[in-house]
Amino acid sequence: MTFSTVSHPFLDGKLKRLLIGGEWVESLAQETFDCLNPATGKVIAKVSRGGAEDIDRAVKAAREAFEGPWSQWKPFDRQALMLKIADHVEVNFDELGLLETLDMGAPVARTSLFKRWLVQAFRYYASQAVNIHGETSENSFPGSFMTYTVKDPVGVVGGIIPWNGPLLTQLWSICPTLATGCTLVLKPAEEAPLSCLRLAELMMEAGLPPGVVNVVPGPGHTAGAALAAHPGVDKIAFTGSTATGRKIIEASAINMKRVAVELGGKSPDIVFDDANLDIAVPGAAMGCFANTGQVCYSGTRLFVQRGIYDQFVERIAAFGKTLKVGDSLNPQTQLGPLISQAQLDRVQGYMNIACDEGAEMVSGGRRLGGELADGYFVEPTVLAGVSNDMRIAREEIFGPVLSVIPFDDEEEAIQLGNTTEYGLGGGVWSQNIGRALRVSRAIRSGMFWVNCYSVTEPAISSRGIKMSGYGEKGGRHHIEEYLYSKTVWLRTDV
Ligand code: ADP
Repeated sequence: MTFSTVSHPFLDGKLKRLLIGGEWVESLAQETFDCLNPATGKVIAKVSRGGAEDIDRAVKAAREAFEGPWSQWKPFDRQALMLKIADHVEVNFDELGLLETLDMGAPVARTSLFKRWLVQAFRYYASQAVNIHGETSENSFPGSFMTYTVKDPVGVVGGIIPWNGPLLTQLWSICPTLATGCTLVLKPAEEAPLSCLRLAELMMEAGLPPGVVNVVPGPGHTAGAALAAHPGVDKIAFTGSTATGRKIIEASAINMKRVAVELGGKSPDIVFDDANLDIAVPGAAMGCFANTGQVCYSGTRLFVQRGIYDQFVERIAAFGKTLKVGDSLNPQTQLGPLISQAQLDRVQGYMNIACDEGAEMVSGGRRLGGELADGYFVEPTVLAGVSNDMRIAREEIFGPVLSVIPFDDEEEAIQLGNTTEYGLGGGVWSQNIGRALRVSRAIRSGMFWVNCYSVTEPAISSRGIKMSGYGEKGGRHHIEEYLYSKTVWLRTDV
C-alpha cells in the first residue's frame, strides 16, 4: 500500500457534513474547506465549514437532547451503549486508524497502536458510568436533619480539540460526556477533522441517540470562539495552545462555564550519568520525536549530565538518523510528515533561530525532498550547545527538534528543569532509585515518567499545571468534572 494505490471507504468524494441533532447537514453558509493529506499535499476530502450559526444550532440540539429522553437513561443503559460502541469501534478500527493516518500524517505503525487505547477508553469510562455517587455527611445542627450530596451531569459540553491526534483526543470529551449523561458539541480542528466525523458515524450505528454528540468542524476564530462564548454551553473541555487556551478562559466568563484546558509544554527530560544508556537513548529520542514532535508533553528539553554529555549527544543523533521518515502507509515508517505547510514553516523558522542563537545542529535540520517533496517532511533534529534561556529551549516548537542541555548535579538539573512557564510532562533516566524519586517529586509538572517516556492509558489520570493548564483527564477524577454536586438538607421529624 502506498499513497498512489490507497483507497478508503470514507473518502468517497462526497461532501463530509456536520452532525447536528443526529442529522448530517451542510453548514448554513454553505461553505466548505479542503482536507489535505500532509504526506502528499493532495486534497482527500471536502468538508462543510461550520460557523457560529452552526455552533448555535448544535448547542440547541445538544440542549434538547440533554433535557429529552437521554436524561432518563440509567447508568447501566449508558454503560451498555458505551460497551456497544467499544465493540463496534474495535471491529471497524482498521479503517478508522487508516483515516487518521491519511488526514494527519501519523504513520500506520503509530495509528494502529491506537486501537487498544480507543477501545479501552470506551470500556473504562463505561465502568465509570455505574460508579457515580454522592456522600452522606453527619451534621450537628440542632434537631433532626440529614445531609447528603447528589451528583448531576453539568449539561452541554463544548469540546475543542487540535489536529495532532484527534482520533484519541476527542475521547477525552466524548467518553466522560456519555458516562455522566451530559451532551456534547465537538469542534475538531480544520486541519484534521475526518476521524471525528467517522467515529461519530460509528457511534450512531451503535445506537448513540440524536443530539448527544454533535460534530461541527470549523475555524477556531469563528466556530471555536462561538462555542467558547455560547451562553447555552455549561462546560468547555479544550486541548490546544496556551495562547488559545487563554482566549477560551476569557470567553467562558460570559456565563461562568466550567473549563478544563490542556495546553502547551516544554517538558524537561533529565538523563543522569548512572542511567542505562541503551534504554535512555532511544527512550529520550522518541520522547521528543514521536508523532514528529507534535505532542504537547514531548520531552523537548533534554538535560544530560556533563560527564556523559558528548557521548549522549553523539548516540542520540545517531539514533535520530536511523529513524525511518516517510510514507506513512509503509508499516516500517516511524515518523510521518508535519501537519501543514504552516507548521513546516514554523519548525524551520525555529531551526533558523537555533542557528542564530549559536546552537550546534548535530543532526537533521532539513526538509525532505525527492519523492517526499510534496509532503511536509522534516528530519528529526538534534541541537547541542543549547542553554535553557535560548528561545528554542523556552518556546514550544511542535516539531521533531530536540535541545540538549548539559548540567552538573541533581540540584542544577531540578533548577533548570523547573525554569519554564510550562508544567505538563517530565522525565528522569537514572538507576539510582532514590535520585529518581527525588527528581520526580521536585519537577513541577502534571505528568512524569521514570526510565520511560510518554506512556499513557485512559484509566490513568493526567493534567497540566502552570501555563500548561488545568483539569483532570483520565482516571476516576475526570468524570467529576462532568458532574456537579448538590447538597440536600432533609428534615426528618416531619
Ligand atoms: P494550533 O495553533 O496548533 O492550531 P490552537 O490552540 O489554535 O492550536 O487550536 C486548537 C483548537 O482550538 C482548534 O480546534 C482551533 O480551531 C481552536 N481555536 C483556535 N482559536 C480559537 C478561539 N479563538 N476560540 C476557540 N477555539 C479556537
